[in-house]
Amino acid sequence: MSSERASTIANSVETFVREQVVPFESDPRWGDHGPADELVQELRGLAREAGVLTPHILEDGSHLTHTETAKVLRATGLSPLGTLACNVMAPDEGNMYLLSQVGDAQIKERFLAPLVSGEARSAFFMTEPASEGGAGSDPSMMQTTCRLDGNHWVVNGRKAFITGAEGAKVGIVMARSIDPSSEGGACMFLVDLPDPAIQIDRVLDTIDNSMPGGHAVITINDLRIPVDQMLGEAGEGFKYAQVRLAPARLTHCSRWLGLAIRAQEIATDYACRRQAFGKPLVDHEGVGFMLAQNKIDLQACELMIDWCAGVLDTGDLGTTESSMAKTFVAETLFQIADRCVQCMGGTGVTGDSIVELLFREVRAFRIYDGPTEVHKWSLAKKIKREWRDANS
Ligand SMILES: Cc1cc2nc3c(=O)[nH]c(=O)nc-3n(C[C@H](O)[C@H](O)[C@H](O)COP(=O)(O)OP(=O)(O)OC[C@H]3O[C@@H](n4cnc5c(N)ncnc54)[C@H](O)[C@@H]3O)c2cc1C
Repeated sequence: MSSERASTIANSVETFVREQVVPFESDPRWGDHGPADELVQELRGLAREAGVLTPHILEDGSHLTHTETAKVLRATGLSPLGTLACNVMAPDEGNMYLLSQVGDAQIKERFLAPLVSGEARSAFFMTEPASEGGAGSDPSMMQTTCRLDGNHWVVNGRKAFITGAEGAKVGIVMARSIDPSSEGGACMFLVDLPDPAIQIDRVLDTIDNSMPGGHAVITINDLRIPVDQMLGEAGEGFKYAQVRLAPARLTHCSRWLGLAIRAQEIATDYACRRQAFGKPLVDHEGVGFMLAQNKIDLQACELMIDWCAGVLDTGDLGTTESSMAKTFVAETLFQIADRCVQCMGGTGVTGDSIVELLFREVRAFRIYDGPTEVHKWSLAKKIKREWRDANS
């Protein structure tokens, strides 16, 4: 159950986003590769003043429960700039969670604190270029390597789709160990950015543009990292990725659900005001039914998220539940976005409202944090295992 404190925070966030953030949606500092950092910092200044910066992490460093976080992040998501203003966007929010769970005191002070205060952005370096056979849907294909050299690890490899790398100050880099002590295991490192050994080759032109810095292709060339900047233990990198995985999937769902709620409001307003064939669009069954289906689907997404958050709140890793929730929410939000566009006719495909942006963003969401098919494939394996166990 979501608590009273979560309702109070979510209400403040919603008022802040609707009144102070939405007017910035037409700001020219928002480009093809996301909003400029200058704009992000201006919005964070406003969030700080309104007392809603990093609202899911409390003064003592503890986090709201997953159920509470879902409610608060949904309110930040009412504008794509709301998540940035409130400092709860991807990948920072997931990175903050990971560091809070696995980082030692030194890592927390040096790398987590500037993220929580909203001064710095971070990037998570896992995926590699598909054209070179690197890690994508299958992270075990990781080609980036790390080896020990005295009291440093040396990392070499290529990365792709690294959100926010351009402009980030903190990097979490994943590599496969070729050191005999942990051979084959994955390692995670904390690095200060920029670093001359981490070269941004290009920022990709992608369908989405709500994340600052866009998504970069990167070459890592003899990056030397002091041993005490390894997160946790050598060879345990995939275990830590699991810690980040389910909550990060779920927070993505909550943020995009927030934006879908707003898109439905905009489409409803259009359909109730706009006339065709002698009556408001909403009175034509074709349009009214689209809005009705959206209402049903928005509610279903909320319930799916709350169910999964409840599982995570028991301390369970929630791997299966978050797979199910992520798949359902990403696919359903895409249909909701499509219907909002359709209800609004030509206006729906213009940049005059955030409806068109939602459509583009949730298209990408069906791929990152695990493509729909990968989630279904892994669920099918589990179903088969359960059947075998029940029948053996
Ligand atoms: C907008 C965006 C932001 C991203 N940000 C980051 C980031 O910050 N850091 C990072 O490390 N990565 C990031 N990624 C990368 C993302 O995690 C990968 O794109 C994703 O894991 C899929 O990998 P791939 O693109 O190599 O697709 P592939 O592995 O080439 O898969 C292609 C398609 O094959 C199908 N497929 C694959 N496996 C199976 C299966 N077992 N069964 C059925 N079908 C299957 C799926 O339909 C899949 O979409 C981002 C991606 C996007 C689009």
